Amino acid sequence: MVMDNYERILEKIAKSANLDKEEIERRVEAKRAKLSGLISKEGATQIIAAELGINFDDEVLKIEELLPGMRKTNIIGKVIRLFPVRTFTTKKGDVGKVANMVVADETSNIKVVLWDTNHIELIEKGEVQEGIVIEISNASMRDNELHLGSFSEFKKSKENIDNVVTERIVKEKTLVEFRIGDASKVRAFIVQTFEPRFFNVCPECKKKVVSGSDGFMCDKHGKVVEQKRALINLVLDDGTETTRAVVFHENLSDLGFADLENAESLGEQRQKLLGKEMFFSGNVRLNKFFNNPEFIVDGVGELDMDFLIGELEKN
Ligand SMILES: [Zn+2]
Repeated sequence: MVMDNYERILEKIAKSANLDKEEIERRVEAKRAKLSGLISKEGATQIIAAELGINFDDEVLKIEELLPGMRKTNIIGKVIRLFPVRTFTTKKGDVGKVANMVVADETSNIKVVLWDTNHIELIEKGEVQEGIVIEISNASMRDNELHLGSFSEFKKSKENIDNVVTERIVKEKTLVEFRIGDASKVRAFIVQTFEPRFFNVCPECKKKVVSGSDGFMCDKHGKVVEQKRALINLVLDDGTETTRAVVFHENLSDLGFADLENAESLGEQRQKLLGKEMFFSGNVRLNKFFNNPEFIVDGVGELDMDFLIGELEKN
């Protein structure tokens, strides 16, 4: 089983405090219970660490050890993606700048956000580019991003990192933890299904095409023979939140749909899904019409038997 960030940090605290990991975990749960569950596991872990007099202020952490809410965080990593610097106007009318990048080490990668003009200048001057190793200190975790303000340090490093994790990290989360822009994985029940919606795409670029007097036209490829596609909207619930999800054509068979054209079997297939628990991965985006988060699913998976047996044994 892959150890998650939480497990890693528990181990780190346990080691620093000279206590068992189970003891730290017990204290975390007790703290959460005392606060009526209003605090996350990660938040409670930080309180426990502080109570034990442990901080990671002077320690360089691995990226997979970073947890939401951490402050005074230090990492070393390679810039694997650099986005153009953006300017914005504050409510007061001041013009500010922000720079986003993805930084990776041997364990993971993370989105890093720079707000300080001195740091951003390094990018504008071309001193910080993709492929360069940087040192970050005194940064703060906001959700799953690392943010640097004027008290943070950001500089080129002399260190070399060879094998960095470049794949996008998909974290397993609960629905209530979903944030716009996240790549996430969740284990949830299907509580509602909707009628499939059909549309047509260009066979070349897979963009949506509409029918005109002359057949189907693609902006790029002109007159094309359309491909019919389908999507299905679901409502997912994992006990923390209900969220709308969209499952596209490619993943409908994993969901158990075989024939979408036959109304009778479609009804049966939809019925079978209700109350079924599965894994879903994808991206969270804002549904502009409902103005709430929507989960664009790009992977559907069964809960495997080993996993279920493990869960049953726990209870
Ligand atoms: Zn096209």
